[in-house]
Amino acid sequence: MKKAWKKLLGFAIIIGVLFLAACGSDNASEGEEGSSGDEPIEIVTTIAQIGEPISQIGGDLVNVETLMGPSVDPHLYDPTQGDIATLSEADVVFYSGLHLEANMEEPLESISSEKPVLAIGETLPKDVLLEDEEEPGAPDPHIWFDYNLWQDALDAAVEELKEYAPEHADELEEGKQEYFAQLEELDEEAAKLQDIPEEQRVLVTAHDAFNYFGQLHDMEVVGLQGISTESEAGVSDVNDTISIIEEHEVPAIFVESSVNQDTINAVIEGAADNGMEVEIGGELFSDAMGEEGTEEGTYIGMYKHNIDTIYEALTGGDE
Ligand SMILES: [Zn+2]
Repeated sequence: MKKAWKKLLGFAIIIGVLFLAACGSDNASEGEEGSSGDEPIEIVTTIAQIGEPISQIGGDLVNVETLMGPSVDPHLYDPTQGDIATLSEADVVFYSGLHLEANMEEPLESISSEKPVLAIGETLPKDVLLEDEEEPGAPDPHIWFDYNLWQDALDAAVEELKEYAPEHADELEEGKQEYFAQLEELDEEAAKLQDIPEEQRVLVTAHDAFNYFGQLHDMEVVGLQGISTESEAGVSDVNDTISIIEEHEVPAIFVESSVNQDTINAVIEGAADNGMEVEIGGELFSDAMGEEGTEEGTYIGMYKHNIDTIYEALTGGDE
C-alpha cells in the first residue's frame, strides 16, 4: 500500500515538472519559475512604462503582458478582441488613466467588477498633476516623465499586488526597493540638461507629452498638437512654434516614436522659408517605449535616451 502511494506521488511530480517545463517554454522572457513553485501572478498593463518596471519589481512572482507595444499611440489605441480576452484572463490589471488610454476606458471599467483594476496615475494627489492648457480642469496624463511621481504611481501598483498576494508582500517590497534605488540614476543623468544654455532650453515636439519633463528639468516645452494626439496641429500652432524657435534660436526640434512627424516637418520647412535652419534633433520616446529586449525598451533606458538625445541636439553634440 505504502509503495503504491509512493509510486503515485512520483508520477504526480513528473507530471508537475513536465507541466512547468511546458509553461516555461511558452514565454522565453520569463523563464524561471516562482520561488515556491506556485503560479506567477498574471498581470496585464496597457503601456510598457508600467509593465516593464512591474516585471522588474515582481521578478519570478509575476508574468506581465503589455497590450500597447513600441510606437503605439495610447491616445488613439482601440482594444482588439485579443486584448479583451487577455484582460479577461488577467489576475490584476494596471493602466495609467487620467484619460490617456481613452478608448480602453470602457473595457477596463467593465472588468473592474471582476478583478483588481487600478489606474495608477489616478492614485496621485490631484495637486501634483499638471493641467491640460487647452482643456482647463483636465489633467495632463504624461506623468511618467516625472520619475518621482511615476515612482509613487508604481508604488500604488505594488501595494495592490501585495494585497492580491499577501504571502509575497516581503519579496515584492524588496523588489520595489531595489528598483526604486535604480531610478536614482536618472537624477544624476539628467543633471547635464542644466548645461544647455538657458535661452535654448526649449523642447519642441509634435505633441504635448513633455510638460512634466519640462517642469522637472527646467525646460520650456512646446507641443504642436496639444496633450492628446486626437487634436491636430493647425497653421497657427505651426506659425507660433516657428516664432518661438526664432526668438530662442533653438537649433533642433524632435520627432516622437509614436506620433506622425508631418507637423514637425512643416515647422522645419516654415522656419527654412524664414531663413532659419532647424534640424530634427532625433527621435524621442514619448507615449511608447522602445523595442522589448533593447535598452530603450526599459523605462530607465527610454528616459536616458531622451535625456541624451535632447542634450546632444541642443548643445550641438559636445559632451
Ligand atoms: Zn501623449
